[in-house]
Amino acid sequence: MVGDGPVGAVGRKLDDHFGLPPGNHQHDWAVGMKAVVQLPDSCTLEPGTVIHTMGFPEPEIFGFFYVYPDRSASMGIFVPSWWESPVRTSYRYLQHWMMHPYIWRHIEGGSLRSWGAKSLQESGMRGEPFLCGDGYARIGEGSGTTNVLTNSGVDEAWRSGVILAESVIDLLKRGVPFTKGALEGAYVRRRREDIQNKELERAKYARDGFQKSFMLGMMGTGMAGITKGVCHLNIKTVPPSKKIKPMESLISEKMLRTKIHQIVDAGVREKKTIHDAVMAVEGWPEIPYDGTLLMSQQDALFKGGKVQAAGGFADHVTVEDPALCLSCPTHTCVEICSAQALTPGEDGGVPSFDREKCVHCGACIWSCAQLSATNAERSNIIFSAGSGGLHSNEN
Ligand SMILES: Cc1cc2nc3c(=O)[nH]c(=O)nc-3n(C[C@H](O)[C@H](O)[C@H](O)COP(=O)(O)OP(=O)(O)OC[C@H]3O[C@@H](n4cnc5c(N)ncnc54)[C@H](O)[C@@H]3O)c2cc1C
Ligand code: SF4
Ligand code: SF4
Repeated sequence: MVGDGPVGAVGRKLDDHFGLPPGNHQHDWAVGMKAVVQLPDSCTLEPGTVIHTMGFPEPEIFGFFYVYPDRSASMGIFVPSWWESPVRTSYRYLQHWMMHPYIWRHIEGGSLRSWGAKSLQESGMRGEPFLCGDGYARIGEGSGTTNVLTNSGVDEAWRSGVILAESVIDLLKRGVPFTKGALEGAYVRRRREDIQNKELERAKYARDGFQKSFMLGMMGTGMAGITKGVCHLNIKTVPPSKKIKPMESLISEKMLRTKIHQIVDAGVREKKTIHDAVMAVEGWPEIPYDGTLLMSQQDALFKGGKVQAAGGFADHVTVEDPALCLSCPTHTCVEICSAQALTPGEDGGVPSFDREKCVHCGACIWSCAQLSATNAERSNIIFSAGSGGLHSNEN
């Protein structure tokens, strides 16, 4: 049973080997970054309160705020792969989102209990891989179960596991070995007949449009939702690396071309990410760290329950072709990194990787700005099984 999630290394190896079924792609991704907050006594929100936001701190960013019993709440943002910004970040944007007056009035005086980040495979059923082979079957988000119309993945992932369990029991009772053919007859058939398959089919094209523009994406989702998937857009998409715009796309009245070059050069020289400098020019205020609710990314990492990578393991984030990093126009992998595990390398070349910090979120995989030379579905980042990660039960 392979149920290693949207960026699981075993699932990725299988996809590298077998490819995806004709017509399927995994071009749509997002990273969700979440904070679990102990709400202040002054907060009047009832458990069960759900707040969703759109358009802040950038038009492409969605936010969520769920209130639980005992004055706790989880809140966070999604940064999608169709956002074309070359300096996309998520931690800084999460903090600005929390500081929006509409959210802040509920959480001011509270404390950060934990923090985490995780990628979502937003191609849903269009990203479905081959569901089984000799001796194995795929379940969960890595098998395309996420419903990209209702934005839900937990129940769907569970359901696929239950279906596989029923199928395996059936095969065991009949004494049939777990060959590809037998699993197709027992598991894939059950999946296709299940009510969930109908729901996923309705959602299959719901995200088409976002790769072209935010408004078209909203129209496509609305159309698929209202007509239960009968009417939808059908837009040719490209891998996420092809969506990332060059640094020059940042040029604006506030951001002159020379300023961008200064910022990029300083980033290479000082081996620093550049999103803070870019945001400063664009007029974003500094984050007023209080050490309790608003803290540095490294402090949040400790709060998140980061588990240190055990000694003796190889790096699990590597690059396929170092030369591509040298000619890379944006180094977006470093900017997005949820844990500051990727940092600028020597002379703007291959980024340095610190596996002690990596939370295995997978955001670097789809935020890499260069396409793999060997696999049209992949970027220049190779993500393998590794040690450590983020083991907070709360997140
Ligand atoms: C911020 C955020 C908010 C979300 N909110 C919702 C929501 O409100 N409702 C909803 O329905 N869905 C939500 N989702 C989506 C939902 O979380 C996923 O669809 C769901 O968790 C997928 O389950 P899964 O078991 O397939 O994969 P995962 O939950 O990713 O589990 C895979 C597991 O496999 C482990 N693994 C990977 N490789 C290996 C290996 N080599 N060996 C051993 N273990 C390995 C991983 O550590 C992980 O624990 C959200 C996602 C995010 C990121
Ligand atoms: S290096 Fe690790 S923490 Fe950073 S983006 Fe990649 S998977 Fe996430
Ligand atoms: S890993 Fe990808 S985004 Fe990062 S520097 Fe190399 S080519 Fe560029």
